[in-house]
Amino acid sequence: MDAAIDQLDIAEARARLATVRDENEADLAAARATLERLADDGSASAGNLSDVVASAQHMVNDAEHILAEVSAAFARIDDGTYGSCTSCGGPIAAGRLEVRPYVRTCLPCSA
Ligand SMILES: [Zn+2]
Repeated sequence: MDAAIDQLDIAEARARLATVRDENEADLAAARATLERLADDGSASAGNLSDVVASAQHMVNDAEHILAEVSAAFARIDDGTYGSCTSCGGPIAAGRLEVRPYVRTCLPCSA
């Protein structure tokens, strides 16, 4: 097994990914509910609501993006490549994975 993967606690990585997934699923549901409510009550055309709509839409986009990254990270755990940079193949720093467990690349490659 690759040394970079040996150093990682895969169980911990799974738990972190599950937490991020749950948080973003909750955000996604809340933002979609907001958008539906605004569409339903007929007030969405009011100018002062456009910021609310834009921010809810932004939250939906962010949450969908992160959820896609989280499922890709779970797939990398399953195929044994989790923790390796998808760009250069080098190890991703543990601290970076603690903050964003779904990250695909090492810090130099992300720049
Ligand atoms: Zn890299």
